[in-house]
Amino acid sequence: MPYRKEKEYVSLSIPHMTGKEMDYINEAFETNWIAPVGPNVNNFEQELAAYVGVKGGAALSSGTAAIHLSLQLLGIGTGDIVFCSTLTFVASANPILYVGAEPVFIDSEEETWNMSPIALRKAFHETAEKGKLPKAVIVVNIYGQSAKMDELLAICNEYEVPIIEDAAESLGSMYKGKKSGTLGKFGVFSFNGNKIITTSGGGMLVSNDLKAIERTRFLASQAKDPAPHYEHSKVGFNYRMSNILAGIGRAQLQAIEDRVTARRKIYENYEEGLSSVSAIDFQPELKETSSNRWLSVMTINPCLSSLTPSDIKFALCAENIETRHVWKPLHKQPIFKDCLFFTAGDEKPVSEELFEQGLCLPSSSSLSKVQQDRVINNIKNLFS
Ligand SMILES: *Cc1c(COP(=O)(O)O)cnc(C)c1O
Repeated sequence: MPYRKEKEYVSLSIPHMTGKEMDYINEAFETNWIAPVGPNVNNFEQELAAYVGVKGGAALSSGTAAIHLSLQLLGIGTGDIVFCSTLTFVASANPILYVGAEPVFIDSEEETWNMSPIALRKAFHETAEKGKLPKAVIVVNIYGQSAKMDELLAICNEYEVPIIEDAAESLGSMYKGKKSGTLGKFGVFSFNGNKIITTSGGGMLVSNDLKAIERTRFLASQAKDPAPHYEHSKVGFNYRMSNILAGIGRAQLQAIEDRVTARRKIYENYEEGLSSVSAIDFQPELKETSSNRWLSVMTINPCLSSLTPSDIKFALCAENIETRHVWKPLHKQPIFKDCLFFTAGDEKPVSEELFEQGLCLPSSSSLSKVQQDRVINNIKNLFS
């Protein structure tokens, strides 16, 4: 068989180390802080809180844990309802089930792909009529783009219901001069391996409510009451971040602005490189916001092309290029099939259209121009 050189694999979103991570890890080893407490944990919390501009943060084992604890802090449990964006990763809503509450999903709007204020208002109106308001609203900033927070906050404030901002994908993004993840009662970040910065796995819950952050640390370390022996009056969790991983996070955080710049540049290259294909559009960026462009996501207009995201995904896969479908809306997921779902109008839900038309493109901050040109040229060829 003739020797065939495999084409270099291009991933969707991979970790991008700065080179300084090992210094913090070595320090943790040298001082024997190999534990879910230690100086890296404390410093990472302070440094991230300072970066986004909030009073405090609690470093946790995952973004999912941060969402779970935010629901715990709000005292949400069996019989309660929680509103949640439908166009998101399942981790946004799974914690609602962990606490025994019931998710109600809210459709997207076209300008940000995030929670529609009109659909949210409808949902509030209807649940208020039934005499049972949600205990929280989980607003997701999908692919790095901030939701319409002013409009969403105005509605939630009217009903006095707190927002948990799922900013797992939007660290470094801006909304009207503020950092994404700082606009609600709680903000959630993720440092999973595919996110814009990573600790391999990890998360952070941030808030201006320092008492709540202190309580988060308490709940995340088995809820040990102050006593000379082991005393527990609340159910606790083992959700703290390891001091070694926090060291990775500290080095990663120093590069966040560079990572945002790199991902935004990648997005600009896609936009420009594919501008000749009229069937292709990209996730919009709302005025007065700046997305970190965690992932560059394109949509294919079905009126202008018969190609589907699946066709393109399949063809690029054969070229060793990884792409992914847009999140399948949670109201369409088997585990949530009995949940209520609200849209703005009577047309087909925006989230369902985005799922059918959208495709996420390789967006790693370490993606080279040569690699990206390969992606662009392969897509262009499919449309010509
Ligand atoms: C990644 C992600 C999460 C979960 O974060 P983990 O750290 O992986 O638990 C939650 N919500 C969204 C929108 C995410 O993309």
